[in-house]
Amino acid sequence: ATWLGVMGGGQLGRMFAHAAQSMGFKVAVLEADADCPAGQVADRLLAAPYDDARALAELGGLCAAVTTEFENVSAQSLATLAGQTFVAPAASGVSIAQDRTAEKAFFTECGSRSGVLPAPHFVINSEADIAAIGGDLLPGILKTARMGYDGKGQVRVRTLDEVRAAFADMKGVTCVLEKMLPLAYEVSVLVARGDDGQAVVYPIAENVHRDGVLFTTTVPGPNIKQDAAVRAQQAALQIIEGMHYVGVLCIEFFVLQDGSLVVNEMAPRPHNSGHYTIDACVTSQFEQQARAMARLPLGDTRQHSPAVMLNILGDVWYEGESVREPAWDQVLALPGAHLHLYGKAEARRGRKMGHVTFTGATIEDAQKQLAAACAILGIAL
Ligand code: ATP
Ligand code: MG
Ligand code: MG
Repeated sequence: ATWLGVMGGGQLGRMFAHAAQSMGFKVAVLEADADCPAGQVADRLLAAPYDDARALAELGGLCAAVTTEFENVSAQSLATLAGQTFVAPAASGVSIAQDRTAEKAFFTECGSRSGVLPAPHFVINSEADIAAIGGDLLPGILKTARMGYDGKGQVRVRTLDEVRAAFADMKGVTCVLEKMLPLAYEVSVLVARGDDGQAVVYPIAENVHRDGVLFTTTVPGPNIKQDAAVRAQQAALQIIEGMHYVGVLCIEFFVLQDGSLVVNEMAPRPHNSGHYTIDACVTSQFEQQARAMARLPLGDTRQHSPAVMLNILGDVWYEGESVREPAWDQVLALPGAHLHLYGKAEARRGRKMGHVTFTGATIEDAQKQLAAACAILGIAL
């Protein structure tokens, strides 16, 4: 059998394993937590930290290719693995996506061709840099350069004094101050590229966040105009090409109230906003990742059904203080409901436990199912 390896044991690794296994691959997962979502379904679990030299050597020796499902795995570990086996995406692309300063510099360079630029921003390495911030960047959002996700590691700031206080709270790590932009809506574009340079792009997705966490993804999105969609998809293809990236990449964009497009950030892996591809596209983002790793032809990205994805957080298990299983039987009575649960034992509030994708003949049909499911699950729409 041919083995494919994954760094990281979360739900992305689990869904990757399902897709790769259905194509006949064996899947090895490197993750310290033995009861992780991907570890439960892997053919082999290497229970060790991501930088454990022995585990990396074992993974590299076993697998024909290795990928990452966790964007903060050390780029050094990927570079080490690359001495032994095929690694996709490579350390070079992952390290750009891990650092907002490198990411924004790269987006700015790509934007000189595509016209799609990141938000106006300023890099703060030390307290002394703050005095040089132009007033046009305020009000803004201070983001840590590394390790932020789900809106963690971000503070909204209105004055330079607030920037100073927020920067001090970040314990002096490098930060990026971004101008607060008037968003009309948010979109993301999944792209994938093979080792042979062939690249494919998925239909653009419209994303709604709640408390910094993705709430729903709708495809086709009700707000997306055709010209914005084409511009975002072209920019995404330029970005993946510019990095000579191999594998699945997701790029988030803002559409501003004046219709202009801004590139926000990228994730060097399959993405939560791409889960709709499992049930609504010819080739899912996870199958695509397996194909890219195995250097097989990439699959068709065409969407066969309009779709809405709803993230399921642990909150849905709570009724006041008591915890009980949600009424999945009622949700699954909806005709286009596809339930995905990640095998996490404990339903903590705010924790991503699963998602449901609703497919329908029309997007309105999928949206009606979303509304019905939210009523069943006690989620305010
Ligand atoms: P993710 O979980 O997507 O990785 P993250 O913590 O890395 O999130 P961002 O995607 O940069 O953070 O920002 C989170 C959200 O905050 C965005 O989806 C958007 O709603 C809002 N936001 C971020 N930057 C800006 C901005 N410059 N102007 C207005 N809103 C913004
Ligand atoms: Mg992010
Ligand atoms: Mg984001």
